[in-house]
Formats: sequence, C-alpha cells, structure tokens
Amino acid sequence: MRVAVLPGDGIGPEIVSQACRVLQKLDLKVQLQTAPVGGAGIEAAGHPLPPETLRLAKEADAILFGAVGDPRYDNLERAKRPEQAILGLRKALGLFANLRPAQVYPELAAASSLRPELVAGLDLLIVRELTGDIYFGQPKGIRSKGAEREGFDTMLYSESEVRRIARVAFEAARRRSRRVCSVDKANVLETSQLWREVLTEESRSFGDVELSHMYVDNCAMQLVRNPKQFDVIVTGNLFGDILSDEASMLTGSIGMLPSASLDANNKGLYEPIHGSAPDIAGKNLANPLATILSAAMMLRYSFNQDQAADRIEAAVAKVLARGLRTADIHQAGTQQIGTVQMGDAVVAAL
Ligand code: NAD
Repeated sequence: MRVAVLPGDGIGPEIVSQACRVLQKLDLKVQLQTAPVGGAGIEAAGHPLPPETLRLAKEADAILFGAVGDPRYDNLERAKRPEQAILGLRKALGLFANLRPAQVYPELAAASSLRPELVAGLDLLIVRELTGDIYFGQPKGIRSKGAEREGFDTMLYSESEVRRIARVAFEAARRRSRRVCSVDKANVLETSQLWREVLTEESRSFGDVELSHMYVDNCAMQLVRNPKQFDVIVTGNLFGDILSDEASMLTGSIGMLPSASLDANNKGLYEPIHGSAPDIAGKNLANPLATILSAAMMLRYSFNQDQAADRIEAAVAKVLARGLRTADIHQAGTQQIGTVQMGDAVVAAL
C-alpha cells in the first residue's frame, strides 16, 4: 500500500503527521512517501504542484492530503496560487467521485446549529460527481444579445458519467445501511431525467440496495428538517457542491470531517474538508481528527481494509467519549488538549 503524503500548508503538516502516526500504529504494510504541495510546493520547486509531487501521486495507490493555502501567496494570479494544486491533482488523476460523510458523534451534538436530538448519531454520506455537469459542460460564455449581454452555461451528463457515479454510490451503500437517495431536478431538467433513468437502470445490478429519488429543493429542506433519514445521497456536481456544504455544517465541527475523491479504480485522494487554517498554524491547536478519519476512509475505500478503518473510527469515538477535545470542539466539562496530544490519545486508544 503505497501512500503519497502531501501535507501542504498552514496546519497541514501538523494534522497529517498525526494521521501518519495512526497509520503506522496499525499492523499493515503501508509505505508513506512525503512531497511538498501548495505554498510548500511553490517554496520548494516554484510550482503549487511540482512535477516530482505529481509523479509520486500518480505512482502511489492513494494520496493523503493535508490542506493548501498560504496568505503569502494570496496576491498571485489564480493559476499560480497554492489552491491550484488540488484542481491539478483531481484532473491529472481522473478523480470523479467525491465522498463526504457527515457524522455527528453524540458527545458533539451541541456544536450543531440544529437541536441536538435532530443530529445526535447522524451518519450520512454524500457522493458528488466531480468532473461533469454545468461546471464543465460546453458551450458556456457571455455573449451580446441585442442591446445587452447574456451569460450561459450547459448542464450536461453522458450516460456513462452517470453510470459510474451511480456504481460508486451503490457500492458505498453496501458498506453502510444499503440505502441510496438520488437527488436531481427531474421535474424541470432534461439532464436530470436521464440521470434518474440511468440510476434506476443501474440499481438493478444492486438488488440489495434500496434506491429512492428526491428533488434537490426538497433535499435541501429535508437535510435541516430530518437529516437522520438519509444513508447515502448521490447527486451531480452542482447540487452536490451545495448539499455537501449544507450537510457538513449540520455537524458544526469543521475539524472533524474527512473526505475522499476517487477514480474509476478506487484510487483516491483523502483529505479533511477544512482548509489550511493559517490563523492557528504552528500553535498545536488544530484538530487532527478530520485527517485521521480521512486515513480511515483511505483504508476502507482504496485498500479494502474495513476492519482497520473501523479500528481507527472506534479509537476516535473512544477518545471523544473520554472527554478529550481540541480547542475547536471544547465545551465546559471536557479536557482541552493540543494537536499532538490528540494524536497521542488516538494512538493509545488503538
Ligand atoms: P479554513 O477551513 O482553513 O478555516 C476556517 C476556520 O476554521 C478558521 O477559523 C480555522 O482556524 C478553523 N479550522 C479549520 N480547520 C480546523 C481544524 N482542523 N482544527 C481547528 N480549527 C480549524 O478556511 P479559510 O480560513 O477560509 O481558508 C484558509 C486557507 O485554506 C485559504 O488559503 C483557502 O484558500 C484554503 N483552503 C484550502 C482547502 C483545501 O486545501 N482543500 C479548502 C478550503 C480552504
């Protein structure tokens, strides 16, 4: 299991090193190789995604990514900024499926902006298509029409694009509660009608998984009304962009949420959903749990090591149950600890 470790900027190196300690604690043959990316890539090799880093990422079986973004480079033109590294990796590696779990540990339910009873025990997974839809469909542009300008984009999905994201969702559901809710706008959009047809066809190969359909406006409402009704939500790029941010905020703890982006062979890039948090970098304040949970996702989705992934997730749950908290999730009556101490606690719990 060759893993390219790309810590990146800000808190990236601090949180990734804790996740690496956790991986090394397991009795698995994991090879970790580190390379600079983002601002660190600009510093080391003059590019946010240096060729050597890209080569390592291509050769690896999976990538553990921290975060990129450094205020020192905020004035560079967009193409040269640290954040371009992530787009470059997605494109070069063909990462088309984005998996974002939103899980609320009972002890952290008070951090949500919803009432604790609505979110305690929440465990849903959003599977978002990442490389198609209105973000990439052609033609798009701004043109003159009569006396004014008009802007236009093209929502477009091919059958094969829908089929492959459907399979990722059904397979993910098999590792969970075997329910997929496909979200679209089939009452208005042709693209969504095709999406719905293909999902329904593909579900015939997954007879053990229950498929339902929901319009995106209803889904946005249901996510704040009764989010625990969902297991896996699968949706296109545009709807997924919005719904996955909505779902992550149900948890109220940005430092707790992992994510995965997969290619057609389950090679993946695993990263916390948060950024490089320059405001707390280097202070031993960052919560490493999102990154540690990203490493667990890596074991589950790229290496089929479900048991090892379960062990990491159970260790995280145990540490939280013991009342140990980094500053971002600290509440009265719990014990505040630093990034390294949180890593120590998870390693000890393993
Ligand atoms: P951010 O996620 O870095 O931080 C938002 C807030 O959450 C900050 O107050 C931060 O201290 C806190 N926070 C984030 N992660 C935390 C953790 N693990 N533990 C404790 N607190 C945490 O978002 P931002 O401030 O908007 O962006 C900072 C930089 O990160 C920017 O350069 C941005 O472009 C970049 N960014 C990168 C990614 C990525 O690498 N995938 C994603 C989002 C933002």
